[in-house]
Amino acid sequence: MKRLTELLEKNREWADKINQEDPLFFETLAQQQAPEYLWIGCSDSRVPANEIVDMLPGELFVHRNVANVVVHTDMNCLSVIQYAVEVLKVKHIMVVGHYGCGGVAASIEQEAHGLIDNWLRNIRRVFQKHSDFLSVWDHSHQQLDRLCELNVIEQSVNVCETTIVQQAWENGQDLTVHGWIYGLSDGLVNDLEFNASGIAEVEEQYQLAMSKMNKLRELAEASDKGQQSPRSLWDKVKSIFN
Ligand SMILES: [Zn+2]
Repeated sequence: MKRLTELLEKNREWADKINQEDPLFFETLAQQQAPEYLWIGCSDSRVPANEIVDMLPGELFVHRNVANVVVHTDMNCLSVIQYAVEVLKVKHIMVVGHYGCGGVAASIEQEAHGLIDNWLRNIRRVFQKHSDFLSVWDHSHQQLDRLCELNVIEQSVNVCETTIVQQAWENGQDLTVHGWIYGLSDGLVNDLEFNASGIAEVEEQYQLAMSKMNKLRELAEASDKGQQSPRSLWDKVKSIFN
């Protein structure tokens, strides 16, 4: 029998350290959960939700799965969204992808991966929908970065189209859905500028986010098929739109 003794010891040390720094920390945390944010992110171990935005546990409600996919038949994800929106009354839902996502990369590989291919099929559909757009980058890592971004935008729309979010908006609830992508190499979040706060804004925000993606493609084509870093390309796009 193997036990995770080392981790259990680390847990005790961590709890002691927190108690010394703030004796009321756990007592306060245990009394209530009132986060304003629901984070839907990738399971990737390098993307720790509350650390990235420098928040404490209790400030962020979190759902993670492979490649931050939101499907309308996924009872797990839908239950999290329902609890967050209807009970916790979060004000923001952010879909947070990340560059270099292994799940997104696997979705467009030819080789079979078994069961997970059923899940990754949702991203492959995003790839097929935007295949013209993505063709500029061939099969480079730049193309993967763009697909990671497109996946965030499409999954953000999926969040907006859940009956839960639609109903919340019909009831006048203050709720905005955001599309973000995180850079593993620099620790920075890139706001993909999809920010929908009502039914009427979904299509408008989608078109706005896509027009920025198209500008990015234009700049990439004008340079050398996107050899620049995504960050520098995005900085240019944002300076054009702002
Ligand atoms: Zn990932």
